[in-house]
Amino acid sequence: MKESKQKIKSVKLSSRFLESVKRFLVDELLKMKRTKKDLEKSDPFTDENRTLENSEEEDLDEQIGHFDSEVKVRFLSKRIVQIRKALTRVKLGKYGICESCGKMIDTERLSINPEATNCVECQKEKES
Ligand SMILES: [Zn+2]
Repeated sequence: MKESKQKIKSVKLSSRFLESVKRFLVDELLKMKRTKKDLEKSDPFTDENRTLENSEEEDLDEQIGHFDSEVKVRFLSKRIVQIRKALTRVKLGKYGICESCGKMIDTERLSINPEATNCVECQKEKES
């Protein structure tokens, strides 16, 4: 009789939740990869039609374009790694568990940031 009152904290996320997370992550990964490819293509430094006889102004434009896409590519690469990591955790059945402290990550946090593999506290510590 007493047992029924005891609340057992479920460690497992519902399979429906996991399924939608997985779908989102796979989708996101594809999008990121595509954007990354486009960015790399749009980098003026990789432009095949690039001439070496640019005016100074054109040179500057290229520099800015190159820097801009480089920053974006770096950001995307980071996200791709993080999404892959989250997907691996889904596969291992460890999704939603903080990889640093082993506690459950808030489902609220997960729904905002599905690729999170750290709980809020550990993330803060990492960033500080
Ligand atoms: Zn943690």
